[in-house]
Amino acid sequence: DREVDHANAAQMLRMAETGEFDVAMPGYIPLHAYLEFGGYQVLDRVRGGDLDPETLIETLSDASLKGLGGAGFPAGKKWGFVRSYPGPRLMTINGDEGEPGTFKDRHYLESDPHRTLEGALIAAHTVEAERIYLYMRDEYPAVLEILRTEIAALEEAGLCEPGFIELRRGAGAYICGEESAMIESIEGKRGLPRHRPPYIAEVGLFGRPTLNHNVETLHWIRDIVENGPDWFAAQGSEGHPGPRSWSVSGRVREPGVKLAPAGVTVRELIDDYCGGMADGHSFKAYLPGGASGGILPASMDDIPLDFGDTLFRHGAFVGSHAVVILSDRDNVRDAVLNLMKFFAHESCGQCTPCRGGTEKLVQLLEREGPLDEGLIRELEQVMRDASICGLGQAAPNPVNHLLTHFREDL
Ligand code: SF4
Repeated sequence: DREVDHANAAQMLRMAETGEFDVAMPGYIPLHAYLEFGGYQVLDRVRGGDLDPETLIETLSDASLKGLGGAGFPAGKKWGFVRSYPGPRLMTINGDEGEPGTFKDRHYLESDPHRTLEGALIAAHTVEAERIYLYMRDEYPAVLEILRTEIAALEEAGLCEPGFIELRRGAGAYICGEESAMIESIEGKRGLPRHRPPYIAEVGLFGRPTLNHNVETLHWIRDIVENGPDWFAAQGSEGHPGPRSWSVSGRVREPGVKLAPAGVTVRELIDDYCGGMADGHSFKAYLPGGASGGILPASMDDIPLDFGDTLFRHGAFVGSHAVVILSDRDNVRDAVLNLMKFFAHESCGQCTPCRGGTEKLVQLLEREGPLDEGLIRELEQVMRDASICGLGQAAPNPVNHLLTHFREDL
């Protein structure tokens, strides 16, 4: 239960801060080791003018680096947009990582935090941001501790001005992973998604043009500049450039973060990256993109998983690349009910179609006997058409797939 988890995490943090409890720190690459292996040399080149903004933007565009938090918006294009609006500008880093089944950002920050921090400082310099706000998931106490330590080390080494990177703790709301809600939260308000336009590239944090990136997107920037855009793009598959960090969980033998090409299929992820299905389980269904990306049957195991229309035409999406594998021991109606309870709990309540719709879907799924499919379809349409943000628009995806692909579980 998220509330209980969050309470535990908050208590752990309090205890860690007062010295009553040591957060178990994972082994990670600290600043001195990162510097020994060429760290911050790309940042030096950017700050020294050796790499101008246009070249950097072109490099990211040639690499086809996309926003890896879930939206898949081209990173180079985003930098160009933010730069086109008059300053002063700001930057935010979204480390909320609240999409169920996603743990790749945690993996990178717990192992190699400076690769993300260097990417952030390169980005901030390029768009001339005056400050970086790093919004971090509070349920990751070790990550928070690492970031506190390593940001202080960066300041001491003179690699960034004191206070230039400000660490902010999220308070456990799923909706604060949505960029405009995150910005509201940083401003000290309730995390309610904003209406768009204007987009945050134009009117973002404190009303200023704001560059927002996910942790993993920034993680790749140094490597792309050092190795060239082709090196990055070539790690994808035909028509799907670039590598992706897949958080794979569920009924597989070896779950975890798997670096595999964009466009990989779920069958390849299971067999080639996760050691096959767990003993005694046979593959039945999968969530390609966390809670909101839908649920597809095992018969659709050959779809290239990536942003764009391969999944979209099936009403699904890859989002933050959280793949959850279900087996013949799982009932899809139960799984969908669980997801709908999550959405009902996490809906910010700002708009009626989502606030009322998610709760109503839970009630309809909980009812004994046959589902009222007509009412569910109608509700789904209203939520898609009239919700303000992606939570309400995507929440009906799993129910839609239940009715379409898993009738035996009704
Ligand atoms: Fe809030 Fe849901 Fe409306 Fe998004 S769709 S603004 S989460 S009520």
